[in-house]
Amino acid sequence: MQYIYAFAEDQTLTNTELGGKGANLAEMTRLGLPVPAGFTITTAACQRYLTNGQAECDFLKDDLMKAVQQLEATTHRQLGNPEQPLLVSVRSGAPISMPGMMDTVLNLGLNDQTVEGLAKQTHNPWFAYDCYRRLIQMFGDVVYGIDKSIFEAELTALKRAKQVTSDTDLTLADLKQLIQTYQTLYQNTDDAQFPQSVTAQLTLAVEAVFKSWLNPRAKTYRRLHEIDATMGTAVNIQQMVFGNYQGQSGTGVAFTRNPATGEPGLFGEYLLNAQGEDVVAGIRTPEPIATLKAQLPTIYEQFKTLANQLERHYQDMQDMEFTIEAGQLYVLQTRIGKRTPQAAFKIALDLVNEGLINRQTAILRLKPAMIEGLLHPVFDPQALKQAPLLLTGLPASPGAATGAIYFDAQQAQVAHEAGEKVILVRQETSPEDIDGMVVSQAIVTSRGGMTSHAAVVARGMGCCCVVGCAQLSVDTDQKQADFNGQLLKEGAIISVDGHTGRIYLGALGQQTGKQQAALNTILDWCDAEAPIDVWANAETPKEVATAFEFGAKGLGLVRTEHMFFGPERLFKMREMILADQLSDRQIALAALKELQLADFKAIFELAQDRPCTIRLLDPPLHEFLPQATADQVALATALQISPAEIKRRIAAKIEVNPMLGHRGSRLAVTYPEIYQMQVLAIIESALAVQVEQGHAVAPKIMLPLIGTAAEMQLLKQQLTATIDTFLAQQAQTIAYQIGTMIEVPRACLVADQIADSADFFSFGTNDLTQMTFGFSRDDIGHFIGAYQEQAILSSDPFQTLDQDGVGALMRIAIQKGRQTKPELSIGVCGEVGGDPSSIAFCQALGVDYVSCSPYRVPSARLAAAQVALQTRV
Ligand code: ADP
Ligand code: MG
Ligand code: MG
Repeated sequence: MQYIYAFAEDQTLTNTELGGKGANLAEMTRLGLPVPAGFTITTAACQRYLTNGQAECDFLKDDLMKAVQQLEATTHRQLGNPEQPLLVSVRSGAPISMPGMMDTVLNLGLNDQTVEGLAKQTHNPWFAYDCYRRLIQMFGDVVYGIDKSIFEAELTALKRAKQVTSDTDLTLADLKQLIQTYQTLYQNTDDAQFPQSVTAQLTLAVEAVFKSWLNPRAKTYRRLHEIDATMGTAVNIQQMVFGNYQGQSGTGVAFTRNPATGEPGLFGEYLLNAQGEDVVAGIRTPEPIATLKAQLPTIYEQFKTLANQLERHYQDMQDMEFTIEAGQLYVLQTRIGKRTPQAAFKIALDLVNEGLINRQTAILRLKPAMIEGLLHPVFDPQALKQAPLLLTGLPASPGAATGAIYFDAQQAQVAHEAGEKVILVRQETSPEDIDGMVVSQAIVTSRGGMTSHAAVVARGMGCCCVVGCAQLSVDTDQKQADFNGQLLKEGAIISVDGHTGRIYLGALGQQTGKQQAALNTILDWCDAEAPIDVWANAETPKEVATAFEFGAKGLGLVRTEHMFFGPERLFKMREMILADQLSDRQIALAALKELQLADFKAIFELAQDRPCTIRLLDPPLHEFLPQATADQVALATALQISPAEIKRRIAAKIEVNPMLGHRGSRLAVTYPEIYQMQVLAIIESALAVQVEQGHAVAPKIMLPLIGTAAEMQLLKQQLTATIDTFLAQQAQTIAYQIGTMIEVPRACLVADQIADSADFFSFGTNDLTQMTFGFSRDDIGHFIGAYQEQAILSSDPFQTLDQDGVGALMRIAIQKGRQTKPELSIGVCGEVGGDPSSIAFCQALGVDYVSCSPYRVPSARLAAAQVALQTRV
């Protein structure tokens, strides 16, 4: 088996065998770029070495010596020959880039003789000894595991003793003294010696690089990035070029485009008279690459041409290492450059416009998770490094916010009106808190999961939110909260990171996410590829407008209960709920209908001819009831009854298991007038908009929590009768539909029967998950962590669809539903509608559209296109 390939050798191997660095060095050599000569030992050799129990490298020795001889012939230098010493670097290079995780040795081939030879030959003893001390330092670190910092400490001590600040200010004598000291460090640490035999240096370095595949930081990195641990690393042996030589010498790193913004043009840094990693090590402050243009104009132009050529060849932004030796430019590495989300979109768009790649390639290179950071502010990454972390909760809604904490919605509102930036901190939120939530920079709750009230409402508003903070306890009465042992009073300043769920003490600098033109263009390309549409869950005119701005094709879920949150509405709602006879309820309902008419009209106007799915009242009624005594008294006055009577009626509504209680369509079975009011408000406003705007409006009326075919049939008949009577009176027609959410497991199992009277299905995956697992979505925050840590669940099923369980029920429902009605429209309107892997699954099941909160629409559009392109490949 051939284990060694010269860079210049004609071969067709890839990163798998040659490692990323080696494959690109070979590629660049073949392109005729100025790459120092060298060869690559394959990953197969590493695997063989490591599986041999690291016994020896014998199987490689002959080949290695042959490869060295060939390199000696090419470079007209010999390893260990003081007259013409060949110096090489021994560089690791894994198949998948693991920056800085493994080891490299530079200047190998120097010993007490060759260093003198190099000094004589270059007429530069200082340079020769600088290389030698670097070799002894790196070799000690890489081969003998002597900590870098021990060498650095000696270097610093020497500089201090000599009262100089820069390495380059040390004299030749200083360097020789340093080399002596370094050699004693070998003895102290390992009773070892720096080998004077250059072949020993080479074999030991190669073996050390092989072994570095198994060092702890490389292992951790592989685990974090899910990189196959059996691949092994390649080793590159390459002739040294010297940026620390003299005259026009230096070394640098550069990107072909700005990795932060994506702007075209060289971006990078360099240092004159420096070697290897001096630029990134922060020993001296490097110069921006633009300065090179003034300092060494010819080299700069040469480098620019070379960078351009590499980018065209690899069809992507490149991250390059270069070295200049005595006015001669060399390129030492190139790879696909890492970049910020903003840069990723800009670069993808520019590369398509420049004709380097096609749209499909551009789409596949992007990641849905990149988008959230573009739509919401983020904290300054520098500031985050030192920020004092208080605690971590579930990242319910992305964003970054700093503000003063308040523990009840009213106080938050007052502070907001006084001009303060506020953060609402609660045990959990309820509809009563809505006014405080609207004015908050961020919402934090100690309880609740990713689909709790706070999470859902915050996501809808695009407001930063962290929920389920187990280490937070809120004392509303004392106006203080315990943040993981730290007691904070009302008005204290905290910073909330909705991207990570982390909460910090004090203010942090932030960067505003700006939605960029590149994103919109690329998302339009996505829509052309995706077979599954993306709709939005939205209810306020602001959310609806945002949803359409972000490209939603329709509204998959308009939750009507959220429309009763405002103080005036909540009051009417309470009157309606607590009325104990039909006539009183109808008076309150009539007032609510007026308000609903305006709500729906605003939505239909914004939606134009796009479909709007409006869900009728869903939550248990007691959620709307007043808890504070003052509110109860006000209500008693309005209803002209005693406070005691109000208390009695409220108590009568309390349920033991409200989530499984009197809610959803069950409300309509007992109080048909509520849904009748709602459908009339929907149809009347749709009709008004239809006349005004001159196009058809097609409302989709959706019944929540249907579990039996008879329930569906009964309500469908009632509501159809109500609507048709009204339309007949008006002598008008409207193309409305009445369908159902599929969110009770039983509904999935009898979907064929339900489909008889349902015009469409929409999976409510939040409730369906809750009822399939029997996990309360408002309490899962307490134990989901333990479930994930112990690998009982790989992810939160409220965020990522549980394909095995919930997914199986969905498959049954779709198959049965379409058995009855082959053309049945089927959507998904739970929170998982915005999750990329869930989208792929839904598409495979034959779902027509997914619907998610407005701020997730853009990433869902990208995910949908990627699913399609990947399955097409
Ligand atoms: P890493 O993967 O950690 O970047 P590298 O193998 O790229 O490690 O090498 C570390 C540093 O040494 C880089 O700055 C690189 O440019 C430099 N270097 C590597 N080989 C040579 C060489 N033959 N001549 C000069 N500099 C080199
Ligand atoms: Mg490198
Ligand atoms: Mg539901």
